Amino acid sequence: MATKNQRIHTVEPFIWELSAPGRVGASIPEADVPEYPLPGEIPLRTDLPLPEVSELEVVRHFTRLSRLNFSIDTHMYPLGSCTMKYNPKVNDAAASLPGFSEVHPLLPEDLCQGSLELLYRLQRALETLSGFTAVSLQPAAGAHGELAGVLMIRAYHLDRGDTKRTRILIPDSAHGTNPASVSMAGFTAEQIPSDKRGNVDLSILRQRCDDTVAGLMITNPNTLGLFEENIEEVTGIVHEAGGLVYGDGANFNALLGYLRPADVGIDVMHFNLHKTFSTPHGGGGPGAGPVGANARLAPYLPGPIVRSIGSETIRSNGRKRTEGAFQGHGSRYTLFYPEKSIGRVKAFYGNFGILVRAFAYILQMGGDGLRAVAEHAVLNANYLKHLIGNRYRIPYSRPCMHEFVATGDIAPGIHTMDVAKRLLDYGFHPPTVYFPLIVKEALMIEPTETESRQTIEAFADALLRIAEEAATSPELLHEAPHDTPVGRLDEVRAAREPILNRRQTEKLEGTR
Ligand SMILES: *Cc1c(COP(=O)(O)O)cnc(C)c1O
Repeated sequence: MATKNQRIHTVEPFIWELSAPGRVGASIPEADVPEYPLPGEIPLRTDLPLPEVSELEVVRHFTRLSRLNFSIDTHMYPLGSCTMKYNPKVNDAAASLPGFSEVHPLLPEDLCQGSLELLYRLQRALETLSGFTAVSLQPAAGAHGELAGVLMIRAYHLDRGDTKRTRILIPDSAHGTNPASVSMAGFTAEQIPSDKRGNVDLSILRQRCDDTVAGLMITNPNTLGLFEENIEEVTGIVHEAGGLVYGDGANFNALLGYLRPADVGIDVMHFNLHKTFSTPHGGGGPGAGPVGANARLAPYLPGPIVRSIGSETIRSNGRKRTEGAFQGHGSRYTLFYPEKSIGRVKAFYGNFGILVRAFAYILQMGGDGLRAVAEHAVLNANYLKHLIGNRYRIPYSRPCMHEFVATGDIAPGIHTMDVAKRLLDYGFHPPTVYFPLIVKEALMIEPTETESRQTIEAFADALLRIAEEAATSPELLHEAPHDTPVGRLDEVRAAREPILNRRQTEKLEGTR
Protein backbone atom coordinates (compact mmCIF):
# COMPACT_ATOMS: atom_id res chain seq x y z
CA MET A 1 0.00 0.00 0.00
CA ALA A 2 2.78 2.41 0.90
CA THR A 3 4.44 2.12 -2.48
CA LYS A 4 1.18 2.73 -4.28
CA ASN A 5 0.60 5.86 -2.25
CA GLN A 6 4.08 7.09 -2.99
CA ARG A 7 3.24 6.58 -6.62
CA ILE A 8 0.28 8.93 -6.58
CA HIS A 9 2.25 11.30 -4.48
CA THR A 10 4.94 11.72 -7.14
CA VAL A 11 2.84 11.36 -10.27
CA GLU A 12 -0.04 13.49 -9.06
CA PRO A 13 1.20 16.31 -6.84
CA PHE A 14 -1.28 17.84 -4.49
CA ILE A 15 -2.25 21.32 -5.54
CA TRP A 16 -0.40 22.64 -2.48
CA GLU A 17 2.86 21.28 -3.84
CA LEU A 18 2.48 23.38 -6.98
CA SER A 19 2.14 26.46 -4.86
CA ALA A 20 4.78 29.20 -4.99
CA PRO A 21 4.53 32.44 -3.03
CA GLY A 22 3.09 35.29 -5.09
CA ARG A 23 1.73 33.15 -7.92
CA VAL A 24 -1.84 34.11 -8.81
CA GLY A 25 -4.51 32.64 -11.03
CA ALA A 26 -6.81 35.61 -11.30
CA SER A 27 -6.43 39.13 -12.65
CA ILE A 28 -8.79 41.61 -11.10
CA PRO A 29 -9.19 45.02 -12.75
CA GLU A 30 -8.31 48.18 -10.87
CA ALA A 31 -11.20 49.27 -8.68
CA ASP A 32 -13.22 52.07 -10.26
CA VAL A 33 -14.96 52.90 -6.98
CA PRO A 34 -13.43 54.43 -3.85
CA GLU A 35 -11.81 51.94 -1.48
CA TYR A 36 -13.10 51.53 2.05
CA PRO A 37 -11.43 49.57 4.81
CA LEU A 38 -13.48 46.59 6.06
CA PRO A 39 -15.19 47.22 9.37
CA GLY A 40 -13.03 45.99 12.23
CA GLU A 41 -15.47 43.37 13.48
CA ILE A 42 -15.34 41.26 10.30
CA PRO A 43 -12.99 38.43 11.18
CA LEU A 44 -10.45 38.28 8.38
CA ARG A 45 -8.39 35.10 8.41
CA THR A 46 -4.88 35.26 7.12
CA ASP A 47 -3.75 31.86 8.31
CA LEU A 48 -5.56 29.68 5.72
CA PRO A 49 -2.96 27.65 3.86
CA LEU A 50 -4.44 28.26 0.40
CA PRO A 51 -2.27 27.26 -2.53
CA GLU A 52 -0.86 30.04 -4.69
CA VAL A 53 -1.04 28.80 -8.26
CA SER A 54 -1.50 30.07 -11.80
CA GLU A 55 -4.65 29.50 -13.85
CA LEU A 56 -2.84 27.04 -16.12
CA GLU A 57 -1.69 24.97 -13.16
CA VAL A 58 -5.21 24.81 -11.81
CA VAL A 59 -6.62 23.79 -15.19
CA ARG A 60 -3.98 21.08 -15.67
CA HIS A 61 -4.33 19.82 -12.13
CA PHE A 62 -8.06 19.30 -12.25
CA THR A 63 -8.17 18.10 -15.83
CA ARG A 64 -5.54 15.49 -14.97
CA LEU A 65 -7.45 14.42 -11.87
CA SER A 66 -10.69 14.14 -13.86
CA ARG A 67 -8.97 11.75 -16.26
CA LEU A 68 -8.06 9.40 -13.43
CA ASN A 69 -11.74 8.75 -12.82
CA PHE A 70 -13.91 6.03 -14.18
CA SER A 71 -17.10 7.48 -15.57
CA ILE A 72 -19.93 6.43 -17.79
CA ASP A 73 -18.50 8.76 -20.46
CA THR A 74 -15.25 6.79 -20.52
CA HIS A 75 -16.05 3.19 -19.56
CA MET A 76 -18.81 0.63 -19.25
CA TYR A 77 -20.15 0.87 -15.71
CA PRO A 78 -22.24 -2.23 -14.96
CA LEU A 79 -22.89 -1.34 -11.32
CA GLY A 80 -25.89 -3.46 -10.35
CA SER A 81 -29.01 -1.67 -9.10
CA CYS A 82 -27.47 1.71 -9.99
CA THR A 83 -28.58 1.83 -13.66
CA MET A 84 -25.45 3.58 -14.91
CA LYS A 85 -26.85 4.27 -18.36
CA TYR A 86 -25.49 6.88 -20.71
CA ASN A 87 -26.61 10.42 -19.86
CA PRO A 88 -27.46 11.99 -23.23
CA LYS A 89 -25.79 15.37 -23.69
CA VAL A 90 -29.03 16.87 -24.98
CA ASN A 91 -30.27 16.67 -21.37
CA ASP A 92 -27.48 19.01 -20.33
CA ALA A 93 -28.13 21.29 -23.28
CA ALA A 94 -31.77 21.59 -22.18
CA ALA A 95 -30.84 22.26 -18.56
CA SER A 96 -28.35 24.93 -19.69
CA LEU A 97 -30.93 26.96 -21.58
CA PRO A 98 -30.89 30.38 -19.88
CA GLY A 99 -34.66 30.23 -19.28
CA PHE A 100 -34.06 27.22 -17.04
CA SER A 101 -30.54 27.75 -15.72
CA GLU A 102 -30.97 31.41 -14.77
CA VAL A 103 -34.46 31.30 -13.33
CA HIS A 104 -34.45 32.42 -9.70
CA PRO A 105 -36.25 30.14 -7.23
CA LEU A 106 -37.95 33.13 -5.59
CA LEU A 107 -39.55 34.42 -8.81
CA PRO A 108 -43.31 34.93 -8.57
CA GLU A 109 -45.33 32.27 -10.38
CA ASP A 110 -46.33 34.67 -13.15
CA LEU A 111 -42.70 35.11 -14.16
CA CYS A 112 -41.74 31.43 -14.31
CA GLN A 113 -44.72 29.83 -16.05
CA GLY A 114 -42.40 27.98 -18.46
CA SER A 115 -40.50 26.29 -15.65
CA LEU A 116 -43.73 25.42 -13.85
CA GLU A 117 -45.14 23.97 -17.08
CA LEU A 118 -42.09 21.74 -17.41
CA LEU A 119 -42.50 20.49 -13.84
CA TYR A 120 -46.21 19.91 -14.46
CA ARG A 121 -45.58 17.96 -17.63
CA LEU A 122 -42.89 15.87 -15.92
CA GLN A 123 -45.36 15.05 -13.14
CA ARG A 124 -47.89 14.00 -15.78
CA ALA A 125 -45.38 11.85 -17.65
CA LEU A 126 -44.42 10.01 -14.44
CA GLU A 127 -48.11 9.57 -13.59
CA THR A 128 -48.74 8.08 -17.03
CA LEU A 129 -45.82 5.65 -16.77
CA SER A 130 -46.69 4.52 -13.23
CA GLY A 131 -50.48 4.70 -13.14
CA PHE A 132 -50.40 6.87 -10.02
CA THR A 133 -52.91 9.64 -9.33
CA ALA A 134 -50.30 12.27 -8.49
CA VAL A 135 -46.55 12.80 -8.29
CA SER A 136 -44.47 15.17 -6.16
CA LEU A 137 -41.08 16.13 -7.56
CA GLN A 138 -39.72 17.27 -4.20
CA PRO A 139 -37.40 14.51 -2.94
CA ALA A 140 -33.74 14.78 -3.93
CA ALA A 141 -32.87 11.08 -4.10
CA GLY A 142 -34.32 7.61 -3.99
CA ALA A 143 -33.67 7.27 -0.28
CA HIS A 144 -35.25 10.68 0.25
CA GLY A 145 -38.34 9.54 -1.69
CA GLU A 146 -38.49 6.44 0.51
CA LEU A 147 -38.50 8.58 3.63
CA ALA A 148 -41.22 10.80 2.17
CA GLY A 149 -43.30 7.75 1.20
CA VAL A 150 -42.97 6.09 4.59
CA LEU A 151 -43.91 9.37 6.28
CA MET A 152 -47.01 9.45 4.05
CA ILE A 153 -47.92 5.92 5.18
CA ARG A 154 -47.44 7.05 8.78
CA ALA A 155 -49.62 10.14 8.26
CA TYR A 156 -52.34 7.99 6.64
CA HIS A 157 -52.60 5.60 9.61
CA LEU A 158 -52.39 8.37 12.21
CA ASP A 159 -55.07 10.30 10.37
CA ARG A 160 -57.42 7.35 10.89
CA GLY A 161 -56.48 7.09 14.55
CA ASP A 162 -54.81 3.76 13.81
CA THR A 163 -51.86 4.05 16.18
CA LYS A 164 -51.15 0.35 16.64
CA ARG A 165 -49.29 0.01 13.35
CA THR A 166 -45.60 0.26 14.14
CA ARG A 167 -44.00 -2.40 11.92
CA ILE A 168 -42.92 -2.26 8.30
CA LEU A 169 -41.99 -5.48 6.54
CA ILE A 170 -39.05 -5.60 4.14
CA PRO A 171 -37.83 -8.58 2.06
CA ASP A 172 -34.28 -9.73 2.85
CA SER A 173 -33.16 -8.84 -0.67
CA ALA A 174 -33.91 -5.13 -0.13
CA HIS A 175 -31.53 -2.21 -0.52
CA GLY A 176 -30.11 -0.93 2.78
CA THR A 177 -31.86 2.40 2.37
CA ASN A 178 -35.24 0.68 2.95
CA PRO A 179 -34.73 -0.26 6.63
CA ALA A 180 -32.90 3.05 7.17
CA SER A 181 -35.90 5.05 5.86
CA VAL A 182 -38.27 2.96 7.98
CA SER A 183 -36.29 3.66 11.16
CA MET A 184 -35.97 7.35 10.37
CA ALA A 185 -39.75 7.55 10.05
CA GLY A 186 -40.13 5.99 13.52
CA PHE A 187 -41.18 2.47 12.50
CA THR A 188 -39.58 -0.88 13.21
CA ALA A 189 -38.16 -2.67 10.17
CA GLU A 190 -38.82 -6.38 10.00
CA GLN A 191 -37.19 -8.76 7.53
CA ILE A 192 -39.18 -11.19 5.39
CA PRO A 193 -37.16 -14.05 3.85
CA SER A 194 -37.16 -14.86 0.15
CA ASP A 195 -38.13 -18.29 -1.14
CA LYS A 196 -36.06 -20.57 -3.37
CA ARG A 197 -37.12 -18.75 -6.54
CA GLY A 198 -36.11 -15.40 -5.09
CA ASN A 199 -39.67 -14.23 -4.44
CA VAL A 200 -41.12 -13.02 -1.16
CA ASP A 201 -42.03 -16.09 0.91
CA LEU A 202 -45.82 -15.83 0.88
CA SER A 203 -46.55 -18.12 3.82
CA ILE A 204 -44.17 -16.20 6.09
CA LEU A 205 -45.61 -12.89 4.84
CA ARG A 206 -49.09 -14.12 5.75
CA GLN A 207 -47.96 -15.13 9.25
CA ARG A 208 -46.38 -11.73 9.88
CA CYS A 209 -49.32 -9.60 8.69
CA ASP A 210 -51.68 -8.37 11.37
CA ASP A 211 -53.12 -5.10 12.62
CA THR A 212 -49.71 -3.89 13.82
CA VAL A 213 -48.30 -3.83 10.29
CA ALA A 214 -48.16 -0.32 8.79
CA GLY A 215 -46.93 -1.57 5.45
CA LEU A 216 -44.46 -3.41 3.27
CA MET A 217 -41.61 -2.02 1.19
CA ILE A 218 -40.94 -3.98 -1.96
CA THR A 219 -38.58 -3.65 -4.91
CA ASN A 220 -39.75 -5.09 -8.21
CA PRO A 221 -37.80 -6.39 -10.02
CA ASN A 222 -35.98 -7.15 -6.78
CA THR A 223 -32.27 -6.72 -6.27
CA LEU A 224 -31.64 -10.25 -7.54
CA GLY A 225 -32.85 -8.84 -10.86
CA LEU A 226 -35.90 -11.10 -10.65
CA PHE A 227 -39.49 -10.17 -11.28
CA GLU A 228 -41.57 -10.69 -8.14
CA GLU A 229 -43.85 -13.35 -9.58
CA ASN A 230 -46.53 -13.07 -6.89
CA ILE A 231 -46.61 -9.30 -6.71
CA GLU A 232 -50.41 -9.07 -6.74
CA GLU A 233 -50.74 -11.67 -4.00
CA VAL A 234 -48.08 -9.88 -1.95
CA THR A 235 -49.81 -6.51 -2.15
CA GLY A 236 -53.19 -8.22 -1.57
CA ILE A 237 -52.03 -9.87 1.66
CA VAL A 238 -50.70 -6.57 3.02
CA HIS A 239 -53.85 -4.65 2.05
CA GLU A 240 -56.07 -7.27 3.61
CA ALA A 241 -54.25 -6.72 6.90
CA GLY A 242 -54.86 -2.97 6.59
CA GLY A 243 -51.28 -2.15 5.61
CA LEU A 244 -50.01 -0.12 2.65
CA VAL A 245 -47.39 -1.03 0.08
CA TYR A 246 -44.34 1.11 -0.67
CA GLY A 247 -42.66 0.39 -4.00
CA ASP A 248 -38.91 1.00 -4.20
CA GLY A 249 -38.84 2.21 -7.80
CA ALA A 250 -35.07 2.09 -8.28
CA ASN A 251 -35.48 -0.77 -10.76
CA PHE A 252 -38.24 0.84 -12.81
CA ASN A 253 -35.99 0.74 -15.90
CA ALA A 254 -37.00 -2.88 -16.44
CA LEU A 255 -40.73 -2.12 -16.44
CA LEU A 256 -41.06 1.06 -18.51
CA GLY A 257 -44.10 0.83 -20.73
CA TYR A 258 -44.82 -2.74 -19.63
CA LEU A 259 -46.08 -2.55 -16.07
CA ARG A 260 -47.60 0.31 -14.16
CA PRO A 261 -46.82 -0.21 -10.46
CA ALA A 262 -50.19 1.24 -9.41
CA ASP A 263 -51.91 -1.58 -11.34
CA VAL A 264 -50.38 -4.30 -9.14
CA GLY A 265 -51.30 -2.73 -5.82
CA ILE A 266 -48.37 -0.41 -5.07
CA ASP A 267 -49.73 2.57 -3.10
CA VAL A 268 -46.70 4.85 -3.18
CA MET A 269 -43.34 4.65 -4.97
CA HIS A 270 -40.28 6.73 -5.73
CA PHE A 271 -38.65 7.13 -9.14
CA ASN A 272 -34.87 7.47 -9.36
CA LEU A 273 -34.62 10.02 -12.15
CA HIS A 274 -30.83 9.65 -11.99
CA LYS A 275 -31.17 5.95 -12.78
CA THR A 276 -34.17 5.28 -15.01
CA PHE A 277 -34.35 8.72 -16.60
CA SER A 278 -30.68 9.16 -17.47
CA THR A 279 -29.67 12.13 -15.36
CA PRO A 280 -26.09 12.02 -14.10
CA HIS A 281 -25.28 10.47 -10.75
CA GLY A 282 -22.44 9.12 -8.73
CA GLY A 283 -20.37 10.43 -5.89
CA GLY A 284 -23.49 11.31 -3.95
CA GLY A 285 -25.45 13.43 -6.33
CA PRO A 286 -27.14 15.41 -7.64
CA GLY A 287 -30.22 13.26 -8.04
CA ALA A 288 -33.97 13.37 -7.87
CA GLY A 289 -36.40 10.89 -6.32
CA PRO A 290 -39.96 12.05 -7.10
CA VAL A 291 -42.64 10.14 -5.30
CA GLY A 292 -45.96 9.05 -6.79
CA ALA A 293 -49.09 7.84 -5.03
CA ASN A 294 -52.49 6.35 -5.76
CA ALA A 295 -55.76 8.06 -4.85
CA ARG A 296 -55.59 6.83 -1.26
CA LEU A 297 -52.19 8.38 -0.51
CA ALA A 298 -52.06 11.29 -2.98
CA PRO A 299 -53.52 13.74 -0.41
CA TYR A 300 -50.42 13.13 1.76
CA LEU A 301 -47.77 13.84 -0.90
CA PRO A 302 -45.06 16.34 -0.04
CA GLY A 303 -45.53 19.76 -1.60
CA PRO A 304 -45.50 22.01 -3.34
CA ILE A 305 -46.85 20.29 -6.45
CA VAL A 306 -47.64 22.06 -9.72
CA ARG A 307 -51.17 22.06 -11.04
CA SER A 308 -52.65 23.62 -14.11
CA ILE A 309 -55.67 25.83 -14.02
CA GLY A 310 -57.71 26.53 -17.13
CA SER A 311 -57.16 30.27 -17.49
CA GLU A 312 -60.38 30.80 -19.49
CA THR A 313 -62.45 29.28 -16.71
CA ILE A 314 -60.96 31.55 -14.09
CA ARG A 315 -61.57 34.65 -16.15
CA SER A 316 -65.23 33.97 -16.91
CA ASN A 317 -66.58 32.83 -13.57
CA GLY A 318 -63.75 33.22 -11.03
CA ARG A 319 -63.87 29.52 -10.18
CA LYS A 320 -60.72 27.41 -10.31
CA ARG A 321 -60.84 24.21 -12.29
CA THR A 322 -58.13 21.55 -12.33
CA GLU A 323 -57.21 20.84 -15.93
CA GLY A 324 -57.35 17.14 -16.72
CA ALA A 325 -55.82 17.21 -20.18
CA PHE A 326 -52.08 17.00 -20.81
CA GLN A 327 -51.76 20.31 -22.53
CA GLY A 328 -49.70 23.41 -22.20
CA HIS A 329 -51.45 26.27 -23.92
CA GLY A 330 -54.41 28.02 -22.46
CA SER A 331 -53.44 26.95 -18.94
CA ARG A 332 -51.83 28.67 -16.04
CA TYR A 333 -49.54 26.78 -13.68
CA THR A 334 -49.57 27.26 -9.97
CA LEU A 335 -48.14 25.59 -6.88
CA PHE A 336 -50.22 23.94 -4.18
CA TYR A 337 -49.98 21.61 -1.24
CA PRO A 338 -52.19 18.50 -1.27
CA GLU A 339 -54.93 18.52 1.34
CA LYS A 340 -53.13 16.46 4.00
CA SER A 341 -49.58 16.97 2.74
CA ILE A 342 -46.68 15.82 4.94
CA GLY A 343 -45.23 19.23 3.97
CA ARG A 344 -41.93 20.13 2.43
CA VAL A 345 -39.02 17.74 2.20
CA LYS A 346 -36.74 20.00 0.13
CA ALA A 347 -36.18 23.69 -0.45
CA PHE A 348 -38.00 25.27 -3.38
CA TYR A 349 -38.97 22.86 -6.21
CA GLY A 350 -36.75 19.82 -5.80
CA ASN A 351 -33.54 19.45 -7.80
CA PHE A 352 -34.74 21.57 -10.70
CA GLY A 353 -31.79 21.10 -13.09
CA ILE A 354 -32.11 17.34 -12.77
CA LEU A 355 -35.86 17.52 -13.37
CA VAL A 356 -35.23 19.41 -16.63
CA ARG A 357 -32.79 16.71 -17.73
CA ALA A 358 -35.22 13.90 -16.97
CA PHE A 359 -38.00 15.65 -18.88
CA ALA A 360 -35.67 16.19 -21.85
CA TYR A 361 -34.91 12.45 -21.81
CA ILE A 362 -38.59 11.49 -21.68
CA LEU A 363 -39.42 13.81 -24.60
CA GLN A 364 -36.47 12.51 -26.59
CA MET A 365 -37.44 8.86 -26.08
CA GLY A 366 -41.20 9.16 -26.34
CA GLY A 367 -43.52 6.38 -25.21
CA ASP A 368 -42.25 3.77 -27.70
CA GLY A 369 -38.66 4.71 -26.97
CA LEU A 370 -39.14 4.18 -23.23
CA ARG A 371 -40.69 0.80 -23.89
CA ALA A 372 -37.68 -0.09 -26.03
CA VAL A 373 -35.41 0.98 -23.14
CA ALA A 374 -36.97 -1.69 -20.92
CA GLU A 375 -36.75 -4.29 -23.70
CA HIS A 376 -33.09 -3.67 -24.41
CA ALA A 377 -32.14 -3.45 -20.74
CA VAL A 378 -33.67 -6.89 -20.15
CA LEU A 379 -32.25 -8.33 -23.37
CA ASN A 380 -28.73 -7.10 -22.59
CA ALA A 381 -28.79 -8.55 -19.08
CA ASN A 382 -30.03 -11.93 -20.25
CA TYR A 383 -27.49 -12.04 -23.09
CA LEU A 384 -24.63 -11.26 -20.73
CA LYS A 385 -25.88 -13.81 -18.21
CA HIS A 386 -25.91 -16.38 -21.00
CA LEU A 387 -22.35 -15.47 -22.09
CA ILE A 388 -20.79 -15.96 -18.65
CA GLY A 389 -23.18 -18.53 -17.20
CA ASN A 390 -20.81 -21.48 -17.80
CA ARG A 391 -17.98 -20.01 -15.74
CA TYR A 392 -19.80 -18.00 -13.08
CA ARG A 393 -22.37 -19.48 -10.78
CA ILE A 394 -25.80 -17.83 -11.10
CA PRO A 395 -27.64 -18.79 -7.92
CA TYR A 396 -31.11 -17.89 -9.20
CA SER A 397 -31.10 -19.05 -12.75
CA ARG A 398 -34.53 -18.10 -14.04
CA PRO A 399 -34.68 -15.42 -16.78
CA CYS A 400 -33.65 -12.10 -15.28
CA MET A 401 -34.93 -8.62 -15.80
CA HIS A 402 -32.49 -5.69 -16.22
CA GLU A 403 -29.75 -7.23 -14.04
CA PHE A 404 -28.62 -10.50 -12.51
CA VAL A 405 -26.54 -11.76 -9.63
CA ALA A 406 -23.57 -14.08 -10.20
CA THR A 407 -20.93 -15.06 -7.65
CA GLY A 408 -17.22 -14.31 -7.68
CA ASP A 409 -15.92 -17.45 -5.93
CA ILE A 410 -14.78 -18.84 -9.27
CA ALA A 411 -11.76 -20.80 -7.98
CA PRO A 412 -10.42 -21.90 -4.58
CA GLY A 413 -9.16 -18.87 -2.64
CA ILE A 414 -10.66 -16.39 -5.11
CA HIS A 415 -13.20 -13.89 -3.87
CA THR A 416 -15.58 -11.48 -5.53
CA MET A 417 -13.34 -8.55 -4.58
CA ASP A 418 -10.47 -10.11 -6.57
CA VAL A 419 -12.63 -10.39 -9.69
CA ALA A 420 -13.92 -6.85 -9.22
CA LYS A 421 -10.43 -5.37 -8.86
CA ARG A 422 -9.08 -7.33 -11.82
CA LEU A 423 -11.87 -5.98 -14.03
CA LEU A 424 -10.36 -2.51 -13.56
CA ASP A 425 -7.24 -3.71 -15.40
CA TYR A 426 -9.46 -4.69 -18.30
CA GLY A 427 -11.03 -1.22 -18.42
CA PHE A 428 -14.39 -1.98 -16.86
CA HIS A 429 -15.92 -0.54 -13.77
CA PRO A 430 -16.71 -3.46 -11.46
CA PRO A 431 -20.27 -4.58 -10.86
CA THR A 432 -21.86 -4.12 -7.44
CA VAL A 433 -20.16 -6.50 -5.01
CA TYR A 434 -21.35 -8.31 -1.87
CA PHE A 435 -24.92 -7.15 -2.43
CA PRO A 436 -27.67 -8.32 -2.18
CA LEU A 437 -26.69 -9.73 1.20
CA ILE A 438 -28.59 -12.98 0.69
CA VAL A 439 -26.09 -14.17 -1.94
CA LYS A 440 -22.60 -15.01 -0.65
CA GLU A 441 -19.82 -13.49 -2.81
CA ALA A 442 -22.43 -11.62 -4.85
CA LEU A 443 -21.47 -9.96 -8.11
CA MET A 444 -24.48 -7.97 -9.23
CA ILE A 445 -24.34 -7.00 -12.87
CA GLU A 446 -26.50 -4.43 -14.69
CA PRO A 447 -25.31 -3.69 -18.22
CA THR A 448 -28.16 -1.24 -19.05
CA GLU A 449 -29.69 -0.75 -22.49
CA THR A 450 -27.14 1.81 -23.65
CA GLU A 451 -24.25 -0.63 -24.10
CA SER A 452 -23.73 -2.06 -27.57
CA ARG A 453 -23.56 -5.77 -28.29
CA GLN A 454 -19.79 -5.42 -28.90
CA THR A 455 -19.22 -3.83 -25.50
CA ILE A 456 -21.29 -6.46 -23.74
CA GLU A 457 -19.31 -9.19 -25.47
CA ALA A 458 -16.02 -7.49 -24.57
CA PHE A 459 -17.13 -7.32 -20.94
CA ALA A 460 -18.13 -11.00 -20.96
CA ASP A 461 -14.78 -11.79 -22.55
CA ALA A 462 -12.95 -9.99 -19.74
CA LEU A 463 -14.93 -11.94 -17.13
CA LEU A 464 -14.14 -15.22 -18.87
CA ARG A 465 -10.44 -14.37 -19.11
CA ILE A 466 -10.45 -13.51 -15.40
CA ALA A 467 -12.01 -16.90 -14.68
CA GLU A 468 -9.14 -18.44 -16.65
CA GLU A 469 -6.53 -16.44 -14.70
CA ALA A 470 -8.20 -17.42 -11.43
CA ALA A 471 -7.38 -21.03 -12.22
CA THR A 472 -3.88 -20.52 -13.67
CA SER A 473 -2.37 -17.46 -11.98
CA PRO A 474 -4.51 -16.44 -9.01
CA GLU A 475 -1.92 -13.92 -7.75
CA LEU A 476 -2.84 -11.72 -10.73
CA LEU A 477 -6.28 -11.40 -9.15
CA HIS A 478 -5.18 -11.11 -5.54
CA GLU A 479 -2.85 -8.22 -6.35
CA ALA A 480 -5.13 -6.44 -8.81
CA PRO A 481 -5.59 -3.76 -9.93
CA HIS A 482 -2.20 -3.36 -11.59
CA ASP A 483 -2.78 -0.63 -14.16
CA THR A 484 -4.72 1.99 -12.21
CA PRO A 485 -3.26 5.14 -10.64
CA VAL A 486 -3.87 3.65 -7.19
CA GLY A 487 -3.44 -0.03 -6.39
CA ARG A 488 -5.40 -2.24 -4.00
CA LEU A 489 -6.40 -0.06 -1.09
CA ASP A 490 -6.81 -0.97 2.53
CA GLU A 491 -10.57 -0.49 2.55
CA VAL A 492 -11.02 -1.43 6.19
CA ARG A 493 -8.50 1.14 7.30
CA ALA A 494 -9.96 3.74 4.93
CA ALA A 495 -13.36 3.27 6.57
CA ARG A 496 -12.05 3.25 10.14
CA GLU A 497 -9.50 6.06 9.81
CA PRO A 498 -10.67 8.22 6.90
CA ILE A 499 -8.15 10.78 5.73
CA LEU A 500 -10.23 13.67 4.52
CA ASN A 501 -7.93 16.63 4.27
CA ARG A 502 -4.43 17.71 3.49
CA ARG A 503 -3.29 17.98 7.07
CA GLN A 504 -4.32 14.41 7.77
CA THR A 505 -2.20 13.10 4.90
CA GLU A 506 0.82 13.87 7.05
CA LYS A 507 -0.49 11.21 9.38
CA LEU A 508 -0.46 8.80 6.45
CA GLU A 509 3.04 9.83 5.39
CA GLY A 510 4.25 9.25 8.93
CA THR A 511 3.23 5.60 8.73
CA ARG A 512 4.92 4.78 5.44
C1 LIG B 1 -30.24 3.18 -5.72
C2 LIG B 1 -31.24 2.46 -4.92
C3 LIG B 1 -31.89 3.09 -3.85
C4 LIG B 1 -31.53 4.45 -3.31
O1 LIG B 1 -31.58 5.47 -4.25
P1 LIG B 1 -30.65 6.76 -4.10
O2 LIG B 1 -31.12 7.65 -5.17
O3 LIG B 1 -29.24 6.28 -4.26
O4 LIG B 1 -30.89 7.32 -2.73
C5 LIG B 1 -32.88 2.38 -3.20
N1 LIG B 1 -33.20 1.13 -3.57
C6 LIG B 1 -32.58 0.49 -4.58
C7 LIG B 1 -33.00 -0.90 -4.95
C8 LIG B 1 -31.57 1.14 -5.29
O5 LIG B 1 -30.94 0.51 -6.28
